Amino acid sequence: MTRESKVLLGHGVSPGIAIGQAVCFQGRPLEVFRIPLLETGVEQEVTRFHRAVAQAQEELLATRQKARDELGEDLVAIFEAQSLLLADTVLLGRVEERIRRERVNAEWAVHKTAEEYRKRFESLERPDFRERKDDLRDVARSLLRALQGVPVHDPSELQSDVIIIAHDLTPSEAVRLGRQRTVAFAVETGGPTSHTAIIARDLGLPMVSGLEGILKLVTDDDPVIVDGGRGQMVLHPDPAELDRTRRQQQEIAEEQARLLATRSLPCVSTDQVEVELMANIDLPEEIEEATRRGAAGVGLYRSEFLYIETSPELPTEEQHYEIYRRLLDEMHPHPVIIRTFDLGGQKMAREMMHTDEEHPVLGLRGIRLTLARPEIFRVQLRALLRAGAGRNLWIMIPMVSTLEEVRSFRAFAEEVRLELESAGLEHSRRAKLGLMIEVPSAALIADLLAREVEFFSIGTNDLIQYALAVDRNNEHVSYLYQPLHPGVLRMIRFIVDSARDAGIDVSMCGEMAADRRHTALLLGLGLRRLSVSPKVIPEIKTQIRGLA
Ligand code: PEP
Ligand code: MG
Repeated sequence: MTRESKVLLGHGVSPGIAIGQAVCFQGRPLEVFRIPLLETGVEQEVTRFHRAVAQAQEELLATRQKARDELGEDLVAIFEAQSLLLADTVLLGRVEERIRRERVNAEWAVHKTAEEYRKRFESLERPDFRERKDDLRDVARSLLRALQGVPVHDPSELQSDVIIIAHDLTPSEAVRLGRQRTVAFAVETGGPTSHTAIIARDLGLPMVSGLEGILKLVTDDDPVIVDGGRGQMVLHPDPAELDRTRRQQQEIAEEQARLLATRSLPCVSTDQVEVELMANIDLPEEIEEATRRGAAGVGLYRSEFLYIETSPELPTEEQHYEIYRRLLDEMHPHPVIIRTFDLGGQKMAREMMHTDEEHPVLGLRGIRLTLARPEIFRVQLRALLRAGAGRNLWIMIPMVSTLEEVRSFRAFAEEVRLELESAGLEHSRRAKLGLMIEVPSAALIADLLAREVEFFSIGTNDLIQYALAVDRNNEHVSYLYQPLHPGVLRMIRFIVDSARDAGIDVSMCGEMAADRRHTALLLGLGLRRLSVSPKVIPEIKTQIRGLA
């Protein structure tokens, strides 16, 4: 039976068009209702629960086997804790007892028992016990899935192109799924400058956000089109729509090829204003792409994304060193601006802090976190300074709001440098030190900060978020996310003027720089260095070359 085609409107947050087969990531939200049972139905419900346990155990066994084959023996241990929980007679006994005692459905009994356990785990001080919470959540989900007959899908099993449908995706989930057979994302939440949207653009995957209620409409394997340019998703497209989409895909590919030809052309406007167009790099696979598209260096390397590759461990000094050296070698003699960990906030490793912050975006993140955890910061700075020997390294700190943070950072960097010197290790003595301006208090003291560092980079993603008090991940207030707000423009002008007066470098690495509608304005404000995702370098260069 062919189903009627349905167009769903959202916000396009990553361009491009993809055709594929839906996979509901983590399925639809598993809604659990309390259903009272008749006394005669209780034993039947207990049997249903036992069947679900057996099915969940079987699925876990299959996942473990797959992990063993694909990832090796050591990583199988991850599933050990879940296997133990699924075989835990006390836990299973409690669910069974609740079904009998309260005469309720198995789903409700699983849900309530898991909640009870979760609270107990949370009250424990030891972090390793707290981590069990996640295992418990996964086990409860697989039991609920088995009870509700929701199939488990692993995108790598599918033959055709996959479109991930989700309520929300974290940046690390987007990376993990985006590297498989995924061709697009469609989600209910998230704004255009969320890190997940940035990752989708990095990976060249179309993404539409703000599609409220899609998990209720879409079922696994449904055919869909995601159009990131128009900000829409088509469910069950008809043959004419599929044809039209394939033609559009062809046109986009041709346009991309045309833009790529600008690689070797100078980045200069018709009235001779020269601009250095650099690359924002989040994932290792983008390094080659940046070179291919003619980047004049790296204007932002988000080092916290390294954590995606090494999670749940933090990267070692050698892992840091290896990627920094690769970036510096690849771009030499152009500058490479490496931003120190911007962990915390809504990004990775919140668990590292062992605190549940009520407002993480205003919490212990960026330079605040690294100064508070010098043992983490030392490893990164050692690797940076070692990798920078004989290379054009610029080190940048994120989320600065006070002068003291900059001074503490400089003092700490010097301490680490002296440590390397006394150990006789080769390192950079000339790395430039700078900061991101992405907090309004820093923007408004840019003249004072300019005396402390050798460069600024303007992070508009956060600057706009904090200046307009608008969550960059919240699609309900994305209409207020206004790069052209006079308050934002005044700050940008003051930052650029302060840098020029102090004779230091200034660039912009926020997403505002990647929107060609803003290019003329940014050059007019005095910016001569922009850093954007490698994918958009040709487009911004073409825009600059057309300006008079
Ligand atoms: C910014 O805030 O503009 C920025 C570039 O950093 P991030 O997007 O990683 O917060
Ligand atoms: Mg930022």
